[in-house]
Amino acid sequence: MEGSFRGWPNGIKAAVSLSFDDGPPSQLDKAVPILDQHGIKGTFYVNPVPGPRFERHVARWQAAMENGHELANHTVSHPCSGNFGFVSAERALELWSLERIEADVLQAEEALRRWLRGIKEHSFAYPCGQTFVGRGSERRSYVPVIARHFRVARGLGESANDPRICDLHCLSSWMVVGVTGEQMISMLQPAIEAGHWAIFCFHGIGGDHHRVDVEPFEELVRYLAEQAPQIWTATVQEVGLAVAEIQQKARS
Ligand SMILES: [Zn+2]
Repeated sequence: MEGSFRGWPNGIKAAVSLSFDDGPPSQLDKAVPILDQHGIKGTFYVNPVPGPRFERHVARWQAAMENGHELANHTVSHPCSGNFGFVSAERALELWSLERIEADVLQAEEALRRWLRGIKEHSFAYPCGQTFVGRGSERRSYVPVIARHFRVARGLGESANDPRICDLHCLSSWMVVGVTGEQMISMLQPAIEAGHWAIFCFHGIGGDHHRVDVEPFEELVRYLAEQAPQIWTATVQEVGLAVAEIQQKARS
């Protein structure tokens, strides 16, 4: 929308969320300690599955959650387009139905509640940022399915989110890979100027897939800590609920 948004509460100028997908171990080893050192809370979208990918690290995720980070739903199966080489036919969204995706998301929800004691209401992130099931005339958006079960959900996209208009069930986020701290800080500047909500989507930090190195990540976190409280850095769920209130007020 044209013109900057100046309607954040408490003298806030703009908002930022740091989100992390897939739960690779480097997020626990590197990202969480850096966030904790600077007092910044992140959102971690995990696939709650048995074995080494999640279950083995449950105690550490529990500790991160109790320390104020958001642990959130990223499905059990991580279904994406079968065009990606890492996606089996079994997990290809082209062959899925709305019923199947809903069952997978609810199964993840049940597993999160079983493994993470006292987990609070949280958000959802679309695997690979993709929001469809089926093909051609059978293709459907599964955003309405997610909207029935969550108040806030994150996708991917080029822009930051304008609180006046953004879809809280399909938020735009920037997936960053191999960037410098300076690059991420300069990506933020137009969003801050416009009073928008910028969401970063990270994967590995200092290791694992789609890596961002530790130094640039720390540079961004330090910058955000210094810019508080004018720039409000909080979890996707927390900023999402504040934006829901802004949109609610605008309607009434
Ligand atoms: Zn993912």
